[in-house]
Amino acid sequence: MTLASRSNEPSLATPTRDIRRDWTKEEALALYTAPFNNLLFQAQKVHRKHFDPNKVQLSRLLSIKTGGCPEDCGYCSQSTHHDSGLKASRLMEVERVVAEARKARDAGATRYCMGAAWRSPKDRDMDAVVAMVEGVKALGMETCMTLGMLDSEQAVRLGRAGLDYYNHNIDTSERYYGKVISTHSFADRLETLAHVRQSGIKVCCGGIVGMGEEAIDRVDMLVTLANLPEHPESVPINMLIPIEGTPLAKVDPIDPIAFVRTIALARMMMPKSYVRLSAGRTAMTDEMQALCFFAGANSIFVGDTLLTADNPGEDHDARLFRRLGIQAMEHGEP
Ligand code: SF4
Repeated sequence: MTLASRSNEPSLATPTRDIRRDWTKEEALALYTAPFNNLLFQAQKVHRKHFDPNKVQLSRLLSIKTGGCPEDCGYCSQSTHHDSGLKASRLMEVERVVAEARKARDAGATRYCMGAAWRSPKDRDMDAVVAMVEGVKALGMETCMTLGMLDSEQAVRLGRAGLDYYNHNIDTSERYYGKVISTHSFADRLETLAHVRQSGIKVCCGGIVGMGEEAIDRVDMLVTLANLPEHPESVPINMLIPIEGTPLAKVDPIDPIAFVRTIALARMMMPKSYVRLSAGRTAMTDEMQALCFFAGANSIFVGDTLLTADNPGEDHDARLFRRLGIQAMEHGEP
């Protein structure tokens, strides 16, 4: 090795203060574009400082109300603006949701996420949604919901019901947001996140990569998340699943190495957060997922479907975990 090649390393020194909320775009971009091995090495160091590197948390996601959404998110099959052929359904019965959660718990999931395709919940839906949170909590599981934008009263009600996490993704950078969604703004997303935080619910917030954005948008998205008043406790990083009939159906897929870089940067910038490999795992090789775990991803969704999209089957995930020597995290385990 020459001295020149070693000289890349000092710029990647692990920050002495690794929980920060004052990231600049420049320093985040410098990490993102560093030699891949250096970036992964540093991300793995940060990961080991805060988590068992061989444990991954398993979540299960259920669509409690599918399709018919008035928003126009360019990636989403559930929007009424796009012709994806998806059939809309009504809000599920509380008992059915709790029964599904029980099955997921018995199969090893510790967190149950419930998603409804709404711009925001209507007041008439709140009783049922609150009953779902209470029913799933009573099973001893962590609860998460994603219901669209919340006002402060709705957030307080969900918090009082014991909701552990609220998912509300910022999706991409502020700059690119308007290219993907026009029916609500980046600022609207941040407002809901603030309501959730103020109500004492933990925040699950990440984004989608591979929507035709540039590297700087991925970096910018993570800078926004890492500079929130508190880091989101969960950071889902989705890889776009192009869906026929949506405006993003023909977008070129993201380079897998760029995806792994995004995971590594999320790990480095939000060291104590669960970084979740979310949608898009069916299009990833096992080797790409292994690299994501090495880069610091430590949570996945299990189950054959993710809302309306395919997900690797549980047998496949169990086999991959065995090959990698990874174990599922127990409830409440860091
Ligand atoms: S708000 Fe959610 S369900 Fe509605 S179109 Fe956007 S991503 Fe889809």
